Amino acid sequence: MPRKAHSISRRQISENAIKVLYRLHKSGFKAYLVGGGVRDILLGMQPKDFDVVTNATPEEIKRLFRNCRLVGRRFRLAHIVFGRDVIEVATLRGHHVDSGEKISKTNESGRLLRDNVYGSIDEDAERRDFTVNALYYDISDFSIHSYGGGLQDLESRTIRLIGDPETRYREDPVRMLRAVRFATKLDMSIESAAADPIQELAPLLKDIPAARMYEEVLKLFFAGKAAQNYNMMRDFGLFAPLFPLVDTQLNEAPHGPIAKLLQEMMENTDSRIEQEKPVTPAFFYAAMLWYPLTQRADDIALESGLSLYDAYTAAMGDIMEQQCRSISIPRRFSTVTKDIWQLQLRFERNKGTKAFKFIEHPKFRAAYDLLLLRGEAEGGTVAKNAAWWKSFVEGSEDQRNVIAKSTNKGGRNRNSQRRRRKPSEKAAPKPAE
Ligand code: ATP
Ligand code: MG
Repeated sequence: MPRKAHSISRRQISENAIKVLYRLHKSGFKAYLVGGGVRDILLGMQPKDFDVVTNATPEEIKRLFRNCRLVGRRFRLAHIVFGRDVIEVATLRGHHVDSGEKISKTNESGRLLRDNVYGSIDEDAERRDFTVNALYYDISDFSIHSYGGGLQDLESRTIRLIGDPETRYREDPVRMLRAVRFATKLDMSIESAAADPIQELAPLLKDIPAARMYEEVLKLFFAGKAAQNYNMMRDFGLFAPLFPLVDTQLNEAPHGPIAKLLQEMMENTDSRIEQEKPVTPAFFYAAMLWYPLTQRADDIALESGLSLYDAYTAAMGDIMEQQCRSISIPRRFSTVTKDIWQLQLRFERNKGTKAFKFIEHPKFRAAYDLLLLRGEAEGGTVAKNAAWWKSFVEGSEDQRNVIAKSTNKGGRNRNSQRRRRKPSEKAAPKPAE
């Protein structure tokens, strides 16, 4: 599509991306803006970042830019660094015929482990995930190259995979999550051929490295579409491989407190992002895993006779470790998640004059937000407890003094999420050592 037939102008592209495109072009290389940058501008949205592809190899790119870092193993890339802004430059990818293990590799289920065969723009387009992402803006003549009907699909708002859906999902199961993410982000529908295989192939996500999954989860839940992504992931069976503990509880009680808490938390996250308020993975995981945690703590207390406090501490470690097998949560967040959990116990005990000190705790606010969510999800004594804290938190100095003297007792709703054991299970004799 020539320049005069489309709406993209250089002014809509970041200055740094333009610099990179021109430097490559003037050095005799092909250079295109690709993917989300082109797609979002055509849709009238603000692109999150700009990605560039070129026929220069990573080494050639490195020679052209002093501010260049080569990154990636599975997928080698150049990062051109302008202070906090990074322009990602990839070399056009080709097909994998007879390329040998060193540059391309798949595992038994068809997943691509290494992907560094270079090729032409046509080949590169075939290797992209969705047609709406296979759009290239050519800096040499400002035309747009569209492959597999990308421009039409943009028009009809269709998420369509390039090539055979099952093969493409097996190559990289994360594409299933990307299909959901783009459908909600761009307000498009997933074409049925692309939607149909997901349910069956969703378990392949279990094999994705936990570090990559962490990044995907951020994109799914911290970009303003958490509630929609969550519901769609549940429908497609994509939630289970990421959050197995949570998924099990949701299936056991589809309308229970956990379902209410998650729905509410997702909606809160979205509205905070809309209002440009900060959101943190620490809180997200604290809320997400709260009910698996309480269930585990109850189980540990029952089985070991530990005090509730000690059972909690043990359960926190367990639950975090189990979750980190599918999604690696950086320690700087997981320690805060544990703080938020730990503080839940203090809401029961610190009513009264202790409350003055408690609200000074650096993680009080996050812990309190979780308490409010729990109150709404569970009602009963937790809601009463939350109401007490709400009036204390929102009260004036004088009101707080009065409230602190009131004797309001409450706490976690016992049994609310506790798995009901069959008597036989409880009594089952332990096998001898
Ligand atoms: P956004 O940045 O808004 O999330 P994007 O389309 O730019 O969307 P990126 O993850 O930045 O997505 O990837 C840039 C481009 O790289 C995509 O548009 C797509 O063409 C290609 N791409 C990314 N991930 C994959 C993948 N797993 N399989 C195939 N192609 C991919
Ligand atoms: Mg991008």
